[in-house]
Formats: sequence, C-alpha cells, structure tokens
Amino acid sequence: MARYTGPVCRLCRREGMKLYLKGSRCDSPKCPIVQRAPARNFPPGQHGQRRTRRPSEYGLQLREKQKVRRFYGILETQFHRHYVEAARRGGVTGDNLLQILESRLDNVVYRMGFADSRKQARQLVRHGHFVVNGRKTNIPSFLVRPNDVVAVRPESRKREYFTDFNEVLATRRAPDWMTMDVNAMSGRILQLPLREQIEVPQFNDALVVEHYSR
Ligand code: SF4
Repeated sequence: MARYTGPVCRLCRREGMKLYLKGSRCDSPKCPIVQRAPARNFPPGQHGQRRTRRPSEYGLQLREKQKVRRFYGILETQFHRHYVEAARRGGVTGDNLLQILESRLDNVVYRMGFADSRKQARQLVRHGHFVVNGRKTNIPSFLVRPNDVVAVRPESRKREYFTDFNEVLATRRAPDWMTMDVNAMSGRILQLPLREQIEVPQFNDALVVEHYSR
C-alpha cells in the first residue's frame, strides 16, 4: 500500500496554502506557512524563488488536482480511480469526487476525531484498530455508506492510545453528516455528505474534472 513518506510541509509550500497535514501543529504558530513572511512564502526547491510565469491552463488544472489529492493524502493511481468512479455516478462529477474522498474510511476516522491528521488515521486503520458494522476493516480506501457504524475495535480499547480517549473525543466536533457515541467510541454515518457539508480549503473541483477529462 503506497503512501507519500517525504516532508509534508513542503507540499503545503508547493501549493501555497495550508493543507493541514500535520495535525495540531497546523493550527499553531509553528506552521511554516504562518511563520514565513508573505515574501518568503515561495515554493520549495532550488527553483522556488524564480520569477513565476503566468501558469498555463494545464498548469492551473494540475495544481488544483494536486491540492485536492495531497489534502486527502492519496497517491495518483488511487485518486484517479476515485475520479473514474465519480464520473460514472450521475450528477456533478466534482461533487461526487469530494463525496467519495470524504467517504474513505481513513477520512471518516479523522473526521470522527479519532486521529489528529488523515495520515495518523490511515495508520490506525491499517493497524486494524477499527471495525465497520462489527467487522474488522483495515483498508483505508474502504468507502462507508449511510447507516454504517465505525467503532474502535474492542481489543484496541486497551491500547494506551485509546485509554480515556472518550474524554478527547468529547472535545472534538464531528461533522453533521455523522453522529458520535463518545462512550462507545463509535460513530454512525447519517448520510453521505453534500458539497456544502464538506469542510475543505477553497478547492476548484471543476478544474480537477477538466484536468482528467482532457
Ligand atoms: Fe506544515 Fe500543517 Fe502548516 Fe501544512 S498546514 S505547512 S502541514 S504545519
């Protein structure tokens, strides 16, 4: 199961925006995007400070696609597979794509508050700490459906990480397309999220769709 293992703040600097990849550090003054004066917020690498030319249409579409993909921490093959599925479903492809990305189990675990970042959520899922409708599920790309119940596996509750975790959960706010049972350390999916219920940075998903439908 491939994943990006390089420096993550670099990805935010490349996209010129916060992608919230490092958990609580992202909201602290230590975030490089906040720390750097606007004049020093150039893309990383040897050529980052070069005078930028006006990006081509393709360049704009590519950057937008990379933003969304990196925000959800997915590599290209899997992201493209999600796009194909989004295009296959009826309706607005961009909305479908975000809905599919939000329904991934690693994202749901993060949104429920069990992890500080999607990367950490992905690791918790991979290590088999979650059950979906009572069945152990360790596939981060598993897509949840309405009425699915995602919970910490009973054996995993004895782990140090999950000890007294319901107190942590009580301080976190899950989106309104799911409902939480803090004491049972579980959450139920009420419905798949609508576009307006998805909290993401300002993405232009139409450009992502244009990128793939060239
Ligand atoms: Fe790093 Fe988070 Fe700031 Fe991005 S938002 S630069 S991951 S600290």
